[in-house]
Amino acid sequence: MKKRESISDEEWQELTEAALEAAKKAYAPYSKFQVGAALLTEAGTIVPGCNVENASYGLTLCAERTAVASAVVQGNQEFRACVVVTHTSPPSSPCGMCRQVLHEFAPHLPVRMVNPQGEMLQTRIDTLLPQSFDKKQLFNALKADEESQQP
Ligand SMILES: [Zn+2]
Repeated sequence: MKKRESISDEEWQELTEAALEAAKKAYAPYSKFQVGAALLTEAGTIVPGCNVENASYGLTLCAERTAVASAVVQGNQEFRACVVVTHTSPPSSPCGMCRQVLHEFAPHLPVRMVNPQGEMLQTRIDTLLPQSFDKKQLFNALKADEESQQP
């Protein structure tokens, strides 16, 4: 595993500002629950995301997942930190689906949950998603299947 440098106060501040700005762009006409997210990539860029709702509710995308998709299409698959902004007190944590998606790329990702009032909670994805299902299990299952089919 690569040695990770800790996230500086300045980086957390920039991420928080990007997530606050992203929350303002949320498309949330149904829930009115505006969420912003921002990912710090290994390359040092900040990629924002916001929730995008749909009249067919199940199609709604969360801010964290739009940030991940945006980062990936920009060529970034390694993340150092994530900030999620909600207007709740205490700040809300990522939903189960987003925990799984963030875990895919960065199991140890530090995550800060903040609100515009300045409340902040900090944790990591592997704390939010213990005993997770991940690519290791999938690869092991495929390998076992391959081995069982050897003549
Ligand atoms: Zn989510």
